[in-house]
Amino acid sequence: MKFIFLLLILIPIQSFAWSHHNRLTQVAISGNTMDDIRNQKIVVTDFSNVVKNAAYILQDLKTLKTLKDNKGYLMYEDINDYNPSLSFNENIKINRNYIYQANYSGPSSYFLNLCGAKCQNVERVSYVSAPYIVNSPFEDKVGQTVTAGDILVKYVDEPDWGMDQLLFNSDQYPEIGKVCKNVNDPTTCENKYAKMGAADNKDPVPTQAFRHMYWQWDWDYHYFVQSIRLPMTHGPLGQAPARAGLFAALSKRAFEFTRSAEANPQKLNLDYWGYRFLANALHYLEDVSQPYHSTQTATKKFITMAFPGKDKAESRKTIYDNCGLNILGCAMFSLEVQHVLTYYHFAFEDYIARLLEKYFLNAADAPEAKEFIDTLSIPSIVDDRLAKSKEGIYIQTTNLALYAISQASQAGQSSLEFFPGIPSTYLQFDGNASKIYMDDKYWNSVFQKGQTNSKEKQDYFSVVHTMYSPMGSEVRAAIKAGAPNLN
Ligand SMILES: [Zn+2]
Repeated sequence: MKFIFLLLILIPIQSFAWSHHNRLTQVAISGNTMDDIRNQKIVVTDFSNVVKNAAYILQDLKTLKTLKDNKGYLMYEDINDYNPSLSFNENIKINRNYIYQANYSGPSSYFLNLCGAKCQNVERVSYVSAPYIVNSPFEDKVGQTVTAGDILVKYVDEPDWGMDQLLFNSDQYPEIGKVCKNVNDPTTCENKYAKMGAADNKDPVPTQAFRHMYWQWDWDYHYFVQSIRLPMTHGPLGQAPARAGLFAALSKRAFEFTRSAEANPQKLNLDYWGYRFLANALHYLEDVSQPYHSTQTATKKFITMAFPGKDKAESRKTIYDNCGLNILGCAMFSLEVQHVLTYYHFAFEDYIARLLEKYFLNAADAPEAKEFIDTLSIPSIVDDRLAKSKEGIYIQTTNLALYAISQASQAGQSSLEFFPGIPSTYLQFDGNASKIYMDDKYWNSVFQKGQTNSKEKQDYFSVVHTMYSPMGSEVRAAIKAGAPNLN
């Protein structure tokens, strides 16, 4: 029987990688080394100016589609040459219905619009209702002047607003990720992103995961155990570095266009879009620094926990009745593992997001968050190294994902120790059950634990600390590399 680890997708029901990219970015660029860029005044212009000049902005697609990494894998596998008969969205393969416009506000209102009738029965998701803009509602209407920092902070969350969702539907790009043993026989085709959540159009959110994750793979790699995934397939999986690279390329061309007398005799200003695309690129870079996004199973303990008998409350009989001895190939078993993962993934990133929000509301209420603020914002040795690097955001993203793998096991272990255990059987404990479980009382007890000096607190904090430092540095480096020369 076929190995059904396909179901073992690590998709949190609510959040994608770090929740609140806006907050992370805001902190990462708050230091004085970023003053010049952050405070740069930018006039908001209409997206139609980008569309009119799409041939210029999208000219790099041609080169990107040919690039290979040092193992010979195509880096930008879904990219084709710029095609003037296709729309902007189609050229970059984002949801055809996604709307790029100034003053776009992501949150949940857009969710239903995007998938229309198909999503009528889908529960409205609240994960996007986070306070996107921190102090005041940030408007960026055409003609207004805003700062580059505003654009970066507001739109770093944009890739979670629907552009990457439901792409496998027949009216979108069903060819993405399709691998056929026999091209003439559709029954031999599979989607290689299935194990990243590709195809469930009843729940659009997980369908974007393949673009927001990156699972490296290499036999000779030090993090072999952490990086192992099931079923085993060769090659890296996930497009986060490619999406970062693509948007960085669009950003570069937008800035360049503004300054090109030859290409732009009308002197249109596309700098707003340069920063907007740069913000989009940063999103993917930040995503992979979350260890649960750079591995399929952060700690392999998550798999063993679901073995019959490990979970005291679980009826061994049910598992045996349904799976027999074929535990690893059994859908029910996979579902249990998925529930365990969903909960810990969710807890891991949600705690930090809540802690930072608490700190920003009143620093005295969450003094333990201070170390994260410092770690994210203070330039470190990594900044120096990166300042000399000309590697580009694609490599920055793969490097950060690799670094995150080194933290994955500790991330998983410390989540198990730091967060309250699962209160019911794993089978019942789906995303909704975990949402109900994680109520105010739950969070208050977790916050209290975060204020102690227990070993599990220190282990968990140390993972976040270890990842925030390079993430902050990489974000600053990517912005410095991407922003136009201010002179
Ligand atoms: Zn994301």
